[in-house]
Amino acid sequence: MAQRPHRLRVISAIVAANLFGLGACVSTSPGGFGAVCSSDGVEVDMDFPGAGLHDCRQGGDGDFRLRIVHEPSDSGDINPSPWFAFRITSDTPRSLNVTLDYRGQAHRYPPWVKVGPKPWERLSADKVVLSDDRSQAKLSVSVGEGETFVAAQPVSSAEDGLAFVRKILAGHTSREVRYGLSREGRPLVGFVFGNENAELSVVAVTRQHPPETTGQDAFQAFIARLASANDLSADAFRRRYRIILAPMPNPDGVDGGHWRLNSGGIDLNRDWGRFSQPETASLASWILQETGGRPVAAFIDFHSTNRTVVYAPPVDAPSKFIGLLAHMKMRFDADVQPPPAWSYSHNPEGGTSKAWALDVLKAPGITLELWDQISPDVARSVGSVAAEAVMSYSAP
Ligand SMILES: [Zn+2]
Repeated sequence: MAQRPHRLRVISAIVAANLFGLGACVSTSPGGFGAVCSSDGVEVDMDFPGAGLHDCRQGGDGDFRLRIVHEPSDSGDINPSPWFAFRITSDTPRSLNVTLDYRGQAHRYPPWVKVGPKPWERLSADKVVLSDDRSQAKLSVSVGEGETFVAAQPVSSAEDGLAFVRKILAGHTSREVRYGLSREGRPLVGFVFGNENAELSVVAVTRQHPPETTGQDAFQAFIARLASANDLSADAFRRRYRIILAPMPNPDGVDGGHWRLNSGGIDLNRDWGRFSQPETASLASWILQETGGRPVAAFIDFHSTNRTVVYAPPVDAPSKFIGLLAHMKMRFDADVQPPPAWSYSHNPEGGTSKAWALDVLKAPGITLELWDQISPDVARSVGSVAAEAVMSYSAP
């Protein structure tokens, strides 16, 4: 699997650091940190798509300790997103303690747990004890027999993101396109549906930043609404528009457990215009190809952050479709409680998809940020309202 070399490289670096005198011994548990630790019928590992960059060891008290390895480049102070995700495999139901050591960063995400085939649930707050500086979090986890996953957000791999879109578009005339390859050689996959002879187009993107799964929840509800069957307004919309979807533009980061960056150590949503990375360069040229000169009436990039907020261009920005902003705000104010804040600006040098959409496509580029602590259901409801707004907008 393509993720392995990268993960092993990181773990090798840790082992090398240990060899050169940072204290711990190099054997796997019990004792030193390793890629897997196990004893007495319990194993902790990080060998699955979306797993965090961790190593672990088991202490003499039986508790597990995971070090959170920082992603392999510095994303600075922009929205630090210390991702964790690991698997516990047990031969019997039991309770155990796992301490997350953030090594200079602060715990951000209340943990989610998935026991066997059950759905993801938040770990109750009384099972999480933080150190005063939030650099360590001790979790008390009840596991079943077999696999239990623990993660910063419900784990959604690159393949999961694509599978969802395939399912939604089944029954529609649509096209799945491999528009490029990531740095680690994963396919970059997009989808198009709607009327191929349409005069107008819309573009939707998500998961440039790997941990931002509430943004993906909203994106998925957005496209599910546009794809609604037996619905007059959705039918009419699909006749009028070509719909271009990029659900997984950073598969290396998503499957590699990154906090924000691609495997080249670059924040893709600061790379539009520069296009120093294959992921952004090929996505932008594919979007231009699919629009085929059709005006783009809406360009929405779904993200997550510490609140639900809409980043939009100024209401007098040079786009024929700038009226979408006021229309969407009206819909959000009426149908989302509490309504999201709006922030209007345009930075042509910022490298965001939003700025590129305005400058190159002359489209109202919107970054729709979902609060990362809302439930998937609430995030989906915001995505549905965004779709209603786009469908009910009378594009000139
Ligand atoms: Zn983001």
